[in-house]
Amino acid sequence: MEYFSLTVQQALRMLEAGEVSSVALTESVLARIEAVEPTVQAYLALDREGALRQAEQADIARKNGQAGPLCGIPVAIKDVLCTTTMPTTCGSRMLEHFVAPYDATVVTRLARAGSVLLGKLAMDEFAMGSTSENCAFKVPHNPWKPGYVAGGSSGGSAAAVAADQCFASLGSDTGGSIRQPASLCGTVGMKPTYGRVSRYGLVAFASSLDQVGPLTKDVRDCALMMNAICGHDPLDSTSIDQPVPDYCHALQDGLKGITIGIPREYFGQGLDPEVEQAVRRGIAMLEEAGAHLVEVTLPHTDYCVAVYYLIAPAEASSNLARFDGVRYGFRDRSADSLIEMYNKTRSHGFGDEVKRRILIGTYALSSGYYDAFYKKASQVRSLIKEDFAKAFAACDLMVSPVTPTPAWKIGDKADDPLALYLSDILTLSANLAGIPGMSVPCGFSRDGLPIGMQLQAAHFNEAVLLRAAHNLEQRAGVVGKKPALA
Ligand code: GLN
Repeated sequence: MEYFSLTVQQALRMLEAGEVSSVALTESVLARIEAVEPTVQAYLALDREGALRQAEQADIARKNGQAGPLCGIPVAIKDVLCTTTMPTTCGSRMLEHFVAPYDATVVTRLARAGSVLLGKLAMDEFAMGSTSENCAFKVPHNPWKPGYVAGGSSGGSAAAVAADQCFASLGSDTGGSIRQPASLCGTVGMKPTYGRVSRYGLVAFASSLDQVGPLTKDVRDCALMMNAICGHDPLDSTSIDQPVPDYCHALQDGLKGITIGIPREYFGQGLDPEVEQAVRRGIAMLEEAGAHLVEVTLPHTDYCVAVYYLIAPAEASSNLARFDGVRYGFRDRSADSLIEMYNKTRSHGFGDEVKRRILIGTYALSSGYYDAFYKKASQVRSLIKEDFAKAFAACDLMVSPVTPTPAWKIGDKADDPLALYLSDILTLSANLAGIPGMSVPCGFSRDGLPIGMQLQAAHFNEAVLLRAAHNLEQRAGVVGKKPALA
């Protein structure tokens, strides 16, 4: 039996029944990584020995009746989350050999739940991008069609799950970086409400937008991962102290009594007809499951790209000031003076996209321009938030596409940052508003590329997303389909 292809829940059942050990699961997934990693290119660091050691401990814990909820399950995480056992590079030369002095809270929580940490996954440098092509070390491929992008910035997290190179993973989402790669690789991906999951030990990109969340093979696994990582953390001042429901409970119900909004603006120009068709088919399935459909409107949608691409770079320019050659990671040693050392370190340590964001952000925050750019963007952000509040007065959740198109060839848009920024139009607003959003597979293009449906709900209403996603998943006939990798 090929254990690596199991879902988290299936693996847990077998562990509980004594039909498999965590060591056997871990060996199976390590063998899978060896077989397909040359094609998929998802892992920046792999900790074989550490993983096997943790698996042995998990097996002992289970024997002793001390199994946590994810005891013995091999997982992997985006390389933006701090770990003491492996480097945390953020896909950047700047942090190439950096080992963090502490673990991110989500890493600690996954460990406490008993999971086995396999390694760190490829990503766009400092999470800036939509294809993972901005990674300084390797570019993950879409397991459904090698040579095509896995999406970004959590491209490695999506590719590794889709290719069965881990049972589940974590990503981070500042403007779509969990939902978009999940959609392009045919996995489930959840960006929780801002404040739901601790950001302690998540290397900051844009602090008012960043959020950690799971990428999984199905919706139940997403609920299991959410149970493990959500909850208040005194180490993150934006983390919110609200009780965490058992997200698995949300999966029991149908959709009777649920009203689903269809935002008019999300089905506009530039939407690939195949994507539209798959999403509309998905919407019909939700209606069959008992949901009531209404049209809603988010009138400020047109401004999302402009607002996000001012606020995110502004915050990034401030967050990335710490990478100066003195405090962390890379230092250019050829310089003769302090200023020259800063200059050379930042010129050589950062890639083009990161530099572009720092320039845009610094400009937008500079005196004389602040009011026209950053302040204005913050004001429009409030209007976008209000759009959602009004829409959620009329519905329990909203459904839409995640991305305007399925995955494209690696290299096709690499020289066109504006085209990539525009392709984020459907995911950015959830971060601007702070609401939870999710991608769940709903179909395939004619070329065999996955298409995801986006679900969005009001703050802290992740449960209704999981409930709707689970209903869709049971009807869409997509779950369990696997890419034909070696
Ligand atoms: N694609 C968006 C960007 O490039 C979102 C990235 C993210 O969510 N980390 O900024």
